[in-house]
Amino acid sequence: MQELYTKALVLDRRPVGEADELVTFYTEKFGKIYARAKSIRKITSKVSAHLQPLGFTQVRFIHRGNFTVLDAMAETRPRPQLISIVRLLADMTHEWEKDTRLWQYIQRIQIEDIPEKEMNRDVLALLGFDGRHASCAFCKKEQAYAFLKTRNDFVCRACASKVSESEVVCI
Ligand SMILES: [Zn+2]
Repeated sequence: MQELYTKALVLDRRPVGEADELVTFYTEKFGKIYARAKSIRKITSKVSAHLQPLGFTQVRFIHRGNFTVLDAMAETRPRPQLISIVRLLADMTHEWEKDTRLWQYIQRIQIEDIPEKEMNRDVLALLGFDGRHASCAFCKKEQAYAFLKTRNDFVCRACASKVSESEVVCI
């Protein structure tokens, strides 16, 4: 049984069991991880307010096969402008892949207001998908306007309008 401590951006929360939730974090020390927060849906929960998606938090876990949240202390309120990045991190990163450069960038967006498309572009480039000089993977003609998460490829505006909105990340 091991106790671990790290700073994290909260990506997502999903109900499990009667009153628990499975929380997705992008952490400084371990990359993306999932941790169970016990009794977090009870009104008496002390950690719920400190584990708001889109917010930064200091979190303590116990690791016994799986992660369980012991406690948490929020550093920032949820920042709604991070929604697109949070979805990218949830969909495009793998568990237990620590990435120091990506974490440094995430630290920047905690304090700086970077336009959403620029953040998407920067994070995608850090994940290995550089769209700055990319052209459309469908028509091969127009300049890249968006990234498609299911195809890991860039498309132009006209081609992006033909696919489901949930797939499209504007850059
Ligand atoms: Zn196109």
